[in-house]
Amino acid sequence: MNDLFGKDDDAREAPARSRPAGKVVPQGPLVPVLLPVALDQTYDYVSIDGEVPEPGSFVVVPFGPQMRIGVVWDRAVGEGKPVDPKKLKAIDGVMEVPGLPAVSLQFAEWIARYTLSPLGMVVRMMMSAQAVFEPQKPRFGVVAVFGAPHPPRLTPARARALEIAADGLIRTKAALAEQSGCSTGVIDGLVAAGCLAEAAIPEKRFQRLDPKHTTVTFGDAQQMAVDALRAAVDGGTFSVSLLDGVTGSGKTEVYFEAVARALAAGKQALVMLPEIALTSQFMDRFQRRFGGMPAEWHSALSANERARVWRGVATGEVRVVAGARSALFLPYADLGLIVVDEEHDQGYKQDDRVHYQARDMSVVRGSIGKFPVVLASATPSIESHVNARSGKYRHLIIPGRYSGAELPEVAAIDLRREQPDKGRWLAPRLVEAMGETLGKGQQTLLFLNRRGYAPLTLCRSCGHRIECPQCNAWLVEHRFRNRLNCHHCGFSLPIPKACPKCKTEDALVACGPGVERIAEEVRERFPAASLALLSSDLVPGLEEMREMIRTIERGETDIIIGTQMVAKGHHFPDLSLVGIVDGDLGLAQGADPRAGERTFQLLHQVTGRAGRAAAIGRGLVQTYMPEHPVMQAIITGDRDAYIEEEIRLRQAGALPPYGRLVAIIVSARDKELAEKVARTIADRRPLAERIVVLGPAEAPIALVRGRYRWRLLVRSQRDVDVQAYLRDWFADLPEFKGDVRISVDVDPYNFL
Ligand code: ADP
Ligand code: ZN
Repeated sequence: MNDLFGKDDDAREAPARSRPAGKVVPQGPLVPVLLPVALDQTYDYVSIDGEVPEPGSFVVVPFGPQMRIGVVWDRAVGEGKPVDPKKLKAIDGVMEVPGLPAVSLQFAEWIARYTLSPLGMVVRMMMSAQAVFEPQKPRFGVVAVFGAPHPPRLTPARARALEIAADGLIRTKAALAEQSGCSTGVIDGLVAAGCLAEAAIPEKRFQRLDPKHTTVTFGDAQQMAVDALRAAVDGGTFSVSLLDGVTGSGKTEVYFEAVARALAAGKQALVMLPEIALTSQFMDRFQRRFGGMPAEWHSALSANERARVWRGVATGEVRVVAGARSALFLPYADLGLIVVDEEHDQGYKQDDRVHYQARDMSVVRGSIGKFPVVLASATPSIESHVNARSGKYRHLIIPGRYSGAELPEVAAIDLRREQPDKGRWLAPRLVEAMGETLGKGQQTLLFLNRRGYAPLTLCRSCGHRIECPQCNAWLVEHRFRNRLNCHHCGFSLPIPKACPKCKTEDALVACGPGVERIAEEVRERFPAASLALLSSDLVPGLEEMREMIRTIERGETDIIIGTQMVAKGHHFPDLSLVGIVDGDLGLAQGADPRAGERTFQLLHQVTGRAGRAAAIGRGLVQTYMPEHPVMQAIITGDRDAYIEEEIRLRQAGALPPYGRLVAIIVSARDKELAEKVARTIADRRPLAERIVVLGPAEAPIALVRGRYRWRLLVRSQRDVDVQAYLRDWFADLPEFKGDVRISVDVDPYNFL
């Protein structure tokens, strides 16, 4: 059945031209069908028995030599040439899967047009629960047979298993074995003896949600925001509200009221969170508020879970989805609210295939579906600030923390003056503060946004720097796993004993710190402290991560060291000191217009983890440039002055949101070919007023996964239809031969 889905690069296989010999020419009304491949048009198929399936229905159709799943569209799309009626093929069957609602079709077309992606690829994202389209296999478990005689041999293991199964629940063999602490062989034995019987496991139901499960008394500012959001939901029209308040101001409690209102009105709601597999804290709080869990949607779900949620969303059984960016593409039967939490988060931008910004696309989805959208953040994006100022978005501000706790005092440690000891990374003042914090029984968080032990391995003897063979990037040492890894392509090798170049033994030295190295220093300095190292490559799975977070929440960890995984969403009550190991790390990205904004957001968010409850918080930022506007904003806490300045810069430079950017990235295995194609593309650009094309230039990371990369950047005024410009441009390009990839990224967030 996998074949039915097809690969996305099947686009080149045009639908078969000739009908199979001996078949009757099908007759009946024509049905436009869109296939989930890299094509931008529908194909006509003849309906079955004259019956035209509803738009959005999933159908099986012959496509090239194979059968494929397609979506019935509401009209013909794209410039398909008229097909000889004799060559038309018929729809093979309509699938028993809920169809895509009409708004989904509209939404898909909007995204395809805006992102310049083939419509088929957008629809493919809407089908990203493959198991939905496969025959459903009921899963089998075992259940106690009521009144069965004892097995001939009642071993203690058998007795335990029977005792547990006596509750009459159906369990998988593995689950029953685990619960009874025996092997599945024991369970098989009981089935053979007739004490247990196999039974189909009923599909898990989604939990009921009660909008009135618990109620909260709000402070004045919160109440105003709550009222505004309730009115927005009641109004049943499109609007965007920017919910802007420091971490701990109660934004989550506030937008829960909007969710409650949507639920009460019988609408579905989507709460989007930046991936990190949705913080467990959010789920717990949701459950406390609504008496049940939302349906989760993120990359760690199993294929069966995905299918279950997809179907539940389509049938309306799922009322609230808490999801990562791709949750936007689920087939909501009746969506009435989207909340985008941490709306400034970069994780909302998808950077491959269809390049979309989920926060921006939520606004589009709201406008198509005619419902309110809530963007929440303690550090809203410059784009959202500008929209709030112009009155496009309603600006709901919650000043101060709900608990009344003060925001942490943040100070800079000027690394030019206060240097860490040789071979160390923590300055004396930070170490001292950590000691004090430990002494008070409170927690410290050290933040460094770099996985592994060291970002560079150098040969002391010949100066060789170990690079990835497929990328122009250094290999990062991961000492815990004893490997050197490429963070761009995943290439990895065991840490060598000798320099790969000059073969000198024991001459390799690690340069610079990653979180593992900070952990090493902390262990040496505070041997008695308990320590948690949070880095995506070190936490094996979702459950382990949630457990680690809970341990920290319970105050069982003294020192937490983490990458940006720790920056989001968690609430650690005993945390009173945050140390930023390298405050300058994010600022070094030259071409990226958002480098400053992003660093500000990240540092603000991380320092804001301190002192959220009883303890008074403080933050210490190690930096070589304490006078930089971003550092100043973090230290003085004067966010508004910083935003003012950032907006001025964007305006002056015609950068987003005052201007539009589109990146074009050309890559090829052959170095010359990549450059040649990039130059040809640049030469063919149509002349237009108010549009500049910069480049081509070799990409800052010029080689990734063995492909050489060149970039062009298109910059236009805000009100220019840059998509139309690009469509004209690309329609006129010659076919490039060879292994060339050209990707177009509208509103890019990545400039590497
Ligand atoms: P934010 O989302 O802005 O970071 P939260 O909604 O997480 O803030 O609120 C911070 C803490 O304060 C949470 O523990 C939350 O339960 C609590 N809180 C916020 N508002 C209220 C309220 N009106 N009544 C009771 N507790 C509240
Ligand atoms: Zn690599």
